[in-house]
Amino acid sequence: MSDLINVSEIFGEDVFGDIVMKERLPKKVYSQLRKVINEEAVLTSDIADVVANVMKDWAIEKGATHYTHWFQPLTGVTAEKHDSFVSAPDEDGRVIMEFSGKELIKGESDASSFPSGGLRATFEARGYTAWDCTSPAFVKRDAAGATLCIPTAFCSYTGEALDKKTPLLRSMEVVNTQALRILRLFGNTTSKKVIPSVGPEQEYFLVDREKYLQRKDLIFTGRTLFGMMPPKGQELEDHYYGSIRERIAAYMKDVNEHLWRLGVSAKTQHNEVAPAQHELAPIYAQCNIAVDHNQLIMETLKKVATHHGLTCLLHEKPFAGVNGSGKHDNWSLTTDDGINLLNPGKTPHENIQFLLVLTSIMRAVDRHADLLRESAANPGNDHRLGASEAPPSIVSIFLGEQLEDVISQLVSTGEATSSKKSGRFNSGVSTLPGFTKDATDRNRTSPFAFTGNKFEFRMVGSSDSVASPNVILNTITAEVFCEVADELEAAEDFDMAVHDIIKRFATEHQRIIFNGNGYSQEWIEEAERRGLPNNRTMVDAIPALTTDESVALFEKFGVFTRAELESRSEIQYESYSKAINIEARTMIDMAGKQFIPAIIRYTTQLADSINSVRMAIPDADVSTQTELLLETSALLTDAKVALSKLTEVTATAVTVNGAKQQAEYYKDSVTTAMQELRTPIDRLEMIVDKKLWPVPSYGDLIFEV
Ligand code: ADP
Ligand code: MG
Repeated sequence: MSDLINVSEIFGEDVFGDIVMKERLPKKVYSQLRKVINEEAVLTSDIADVVANVMKDWAIEKGATHYTHWFQPLTGVTAEKHDSFVSAPDEDGRVIMEFSGKELIKGESDASSFPSGGLRATFEARGYTAWDCTSPAFVKRDAAGATLCIPTAFCSYTGEALDKKTPLLRSMEVVNTQALRILRLFGNTTSKKVIPSVGPEQEYFLVDREKYLQRKDLIFTGRTLFGMMPPKGQELEDHYYGSIRERIAAYMKDVNEHLWRLGVSAKTQHNEVAPAQHELAPIYAQCNIAVDHNQLIMETLKKVATHHGLTCLLHEKPFAGVNGSGKHDNWSLTTDDGINLLNPGKTPHENIQFLLVLTSIMRAVDRHADLLRESAANPGNDHRLGASEAPPSIVSIFLGEQLEDVISQLVSTGEATSSKKSGRFNSGVSTLPGFTKDATDRNRTSPFAFTGNKFEFRMVGSSDSVASPNVILNTITAEVFCEVADELEAAEDFDMAVHDIIKRFATEHQRIIFNGNGYSQEWIEEAERRGLPNNRTMVDAIPALTTDESVALFEKFGVFTRAELESRSEIQYESYSKAINIEARTMIDMAGKQFIPAIIRYTTQLADSINSVRMAIPDADVSTQTELLLETSALLTDAKVALSKLTEVTATAVTVNGAKQQAEYYKDSVTTAMQELRTPIDRLEMIVDKKLWPVPSYGDLIFEV
């Protein structure tokens, strides 16, 4: 790619977006399609045929030979099944490039090759992908050429959701309906739609590809299963915002360019706290588009890395003892005419609509904290949450000084009469500008923080899709909005009724507010006293999906059926077990074939040294070598015992019946045995001659990118 790039020229170049549609579609078709996108009309086959044809011509001009329905099955990554545009040859052997409206709007995919968590057994294996016309189609380029990708939802023959997108779209409709009711009650007659806006910040690690390829744990599991932080740790904070090294800078430039072409507004990039860790954030977008874009970001980060001799690690905890990676899910509710429901204004205490929205969200989060926690659960995040760098596994809300003060006024007197003012920023240097500070400082330790005009859900893991967290946020908020609207629509005195609700919600749900240090032990104890759930691991979190409360919530709003929830919980257990199984087997392999042989070589070296020295000088002091040999041999014995134990429990795990029981066995027995094997090997890494150690160390991986 060229050195100088004109962003405005390339931005969205490979996207079949609004500008292209307006330019290329017949006027009537364009306006009809816009109506469909705005949910004011349904798609007819005539329209679909015209759109498909125009889309195909555009894609072919971009070099595309194939098209694919691009979807997000429950594996958490995207799936594609490519078909070429080429039609069957006519009698003269000529082919034409074809793409019909039917092919655009509907695809068939064998549902049985994707996780369905039992839905497969009770329903047909047939699955359909259906065009999500609210997220634009795009052309993706890779070694296979260029492909027209059509964002779709993926459902079973009977309409059960088999993907992450279908419930997301359902939840967006639900929160739209309920939020509009609230706006109407406050006299807003002009906004047509309320849309959840999402801006996910993506953290990731970059390591040298050559070194990566020397570690089976990184290759098979995405994280190191052995290894220790070197003495030069991340206390060297010069890395943070440090000048991004040349190699990384070239990589980031390339990533940005790829993303801009795809219409992803990659905006900020900086080095993160941990060495070799980085972050990329796009400008926020409509929820489902943001989810699609985040998938494209993850894919692009990985793909471009290989072009630069690097590997991008999206795992939540690639290195023990080093900060992990998350994905901050920034979320707000905005109307089609640009009103942000989460904007407090300058004097929040007077902004009744804002206070109602805020306290409604407090109620939603407090009520369904377990669901939010579950939406951020994956095997990698178990190592990250609560490890003094990421929020704990307890959900709480950080409001900041100003809003916390407003809430406590409401609780104590039933009335909020003032808002704390934000001060002026003053550096003491006259040439630096002074400006009004944000009303609130940041609290980095909170899992769910109010940051000015949005909430930032920070529990989500870096490798996860942001679909599930947003399904939960949209639905739990809709539930409270619905309750509020029911009450207010029936109220005789609207002002009094609003006031009552705000006060009631603030009082009842005060316990979810926590502005202190979320990393501290005191908070864990305090949260327990407050009765807030603390589901430490993914396996502990999964049951939240199928509680009576959750089923009632999702069925009421048609976001999930009970069967869909049960299938999702099944898949979660299965994916946990699968992940731990792979990790355990990789450890067994590495310990048995790489580490133990290397350690034995080292003990031989030590023994040889003792013997040769004694031979040369019979009464020489060989106590150092002897001590090392004894220590190494003892640790080697520990490692061997632990290896046998891990081998045994891993074999047993496969035989455990029931998805939940099996996941519990992996969590309790297998992960414990894994840790027992890791401990002696990590200690040995510090002792054994580096030349003999069979894999690159943390130091090699983290400091030499
Ligand atoms: P911060 O410094 O608070 O983390 P940034 O400006 O870096 O904020 O934004 C983080 C992410 O939040 C970006 O993706 C940004 O586009 C997104 N964002 C900003 N405002 C909103 C909003 N109102 N709703 C949703 N996301 C938002
Ligand atoms: Mg942020």
